[in-house]
Amino acid sequence: MFKSSWLPLAPALGEVLLLNKASNAERRQLVVGNWKMNGNLQQNAALLAKVAAGWQGEHNADVVICPPFPYLMHTNSLLSGSSVLLGAQTVSENDQGAYTGEISCPMLADLNCKFVIIGHNERRRMQGETDEQVARQFVAVHRAGLIPILCVGESLKDREQGRQLETISRQLNAVFAHTGKDVFKNAVLAYEPVWAVGTGKTATPEQAEEVHRFMRAQLGGLASEVRILYGGSVKSHNAQQLFALPDIDGALLGGASLDADEFLAICKAAD
Ligand code: PEP
Repeated sequence: MFKSSWLPLAPALGEVLLLNKASNAERRQLVVGNWKMNGNLQQNAALLAKVAAGWQGEHNADVVICPPFPYLMHTNSLLSGSSVLLGAQTVSENDQGAYTGEISCPMLADLNCKFVIIGHNERRRMQGETDEQVARQFVAVHRAGLIPILCVGESLKDREQGRQLETISRQLNAVFAHTGKDVFKNAVLAYEPVWAVGTGKTATPEQAEEVHRFMRAQLGGLASEVRILYGGSVKSHNAQQLFALPDIDGALLGGASLDADEFLAICKAAD
């Protein structure tokens, strides 16, 4: 599925749905599976055998799997021959040196990683990653020629206070301040409302589309080119509805990426 949707004005959701053929650039849908800290060699082999068999050859959507670091090489070899790409869940802002326990972008590139998730809300909340740190990680990923998947999203409190756009704007501006906007040509954004990740609650199409449209507008001249994923309890039963929205270009999946049938059903909905 390709999207060519962005509209410079901000019409109501219904109007956007009707008018979404109105602009120029085409964006391939993207589905990214974030396994988080799950799996083992045996389970991964079984899951990847099914996914690799189900995603061969040419498609209109890109599919990426981000396993835990120790399984990157194993995952890479089990995906060879399929069209599924490899990604990582986070990375150091430094390229090498005395940073015990850290993994660098050049190391990820060595292992055939193409994408790196950064700023996931679990890392912002549990590892205390700041907007500044996420911006430096973005720079490192870009420097290594990898594609950052920059996650942003508001907390439940922000949402209840109607401050979701303010939070998203702060998180995006922290990166823009380091990089400018041009580098987003080779980046992916993911809107992940914190209250929807791993909770079974999904943003309504209106809530998701409002934020995606806002994020797109922040990208200025690149607005119609950058892929913006939605993440937060996406499953096969709600994927189609979300993917039909003009400013949603695919999904970042947690739980659903651990089940091959569910994962492939979502990939097919994007295709
Ligand atoms: C995620 O971890 O990025 C995520 C979206 O998780 P889930 O799909 O389980 O909500």
